[in-house]
Amino acid sequence: MKLILLGAPGAGKGTVAKMLTGVDGSVQISTGDILRAAVAAGTELGKQAKTAMDAGDLVSDDLIMGIMGERLQEPDCEKGFLLDGFPRTIPQAEALDGLLDKLDIKLDMAVELDVPRDVILDRLTTRRTCTGCGAIYNVKSKPPKVEGVCDECGASVVQRDDETVEAISNRLDVYNEKTAPLAGFYKNAGKLVTINATSSDVVVQTIKDNLPS
Ligand code: AMP
Repeated sequence: MKLILLGAPGAGKGTVAKMLTGVDGSVQISTGDILRAAVAAGTELGKQAKTAMDAGDLVSDDLIMGIMGERLQEPDCEKGFLLDGFPRTIPQAEALDGLLDKLDIKLDMAVELDVPRDVILDRLTTRRTCTGCGAIYNVKSKPPKVEGVCDECGASVVQRDDETVEAISNRLDVYNEKTAPLAGFYKNAGKLVTINATSSDVVVQTIKDNLPS
């Protein structure tokens, strides 16, 4: 399947993408994970992205399109891809359209995960992320077996730098201003499916039900 997952930070895009990779081998592509790995490795890309990321602002469209232009041409994308956190602006969505046309790839749908703001705020302030494999935990509903240690890979599980109350509030404002308009963009293209996303299981089933046969 070839999907875009839209939704505010904390709407569950990453969780749903991970659940869907098991369905048909489509690969999850998270621009946030790619950028965090670059920051951790201290690469030039990471240095350029870090300040914006820590403040909860968006990294430049050019930088993101540079990453995605290469990533979508890698062989593991042939089976399908689940775009998690990309596109995030109208210019990125337009550039993605051009790229997919050039690569002769047809998008199945853009799925908008709709979650109330109070649920999002609660999820983000209690979320913890593995610094090694990116696995997601929650201090209330899904803590790691050993505090601060990933069940999957043994690396440290931490609160992300951009998950302070201040950065979260900025990320939600940025989402409303820059990313929420993408729902209209994909609706006009006849690709939008909006799902009440309080439960990830329901989202996955609804996506499977809506996939073109
Ligand atoms: P995420 O893990 O998707 O919430 O992304 C974490 C941060 O990475 C965001 O707050 C942005 O600073 C940056 N980022 C990730 N994806 C994008 C994108 N498509 N466009 C611009 N910035 C992005």
